[in-house]
Amino acid sequence: MADCNETLRELEAFLDDELTDETRTHIRAHLEGCLDCLQAFDFHAELRTVVAAKCHNDELPAGLLDRITACFGDDRPAVDLTDAPDPATEVDDGSVGADGGC
Ligand SMILES: [Zn+2]
Repeated sequence: MADCNETLRELEAFLDDELTDETRTHIRAHLEGCLDCLQAFDFHAELRTVVAAKCHNDELPAGLLDRITACFGDDRPAVDLTDAPDPATEVDDGSVGADGGC
């Protein structure tokens, strides 16, 4: 069964449709019961759409890339199982897709 760390690690592969059916089923089952991971997936899915639509064949705005790295680029997962659940994660910012840095 997937936990939060595993789920977030598979995020990119999930969005790229590169997972096996079994793994995808585990991820989906986890997302149905974990709002933190669901928000992270929603954030990334929306981000991809925005980037693809606005920055096609263009450079990413520097600030946007920094924010992606801050959220997901490090070894540190967005959700830390060793701490109490914290709904106020960075992924909840929500402003990346709207500030039109292109
Ligand atoms: Zn989770």
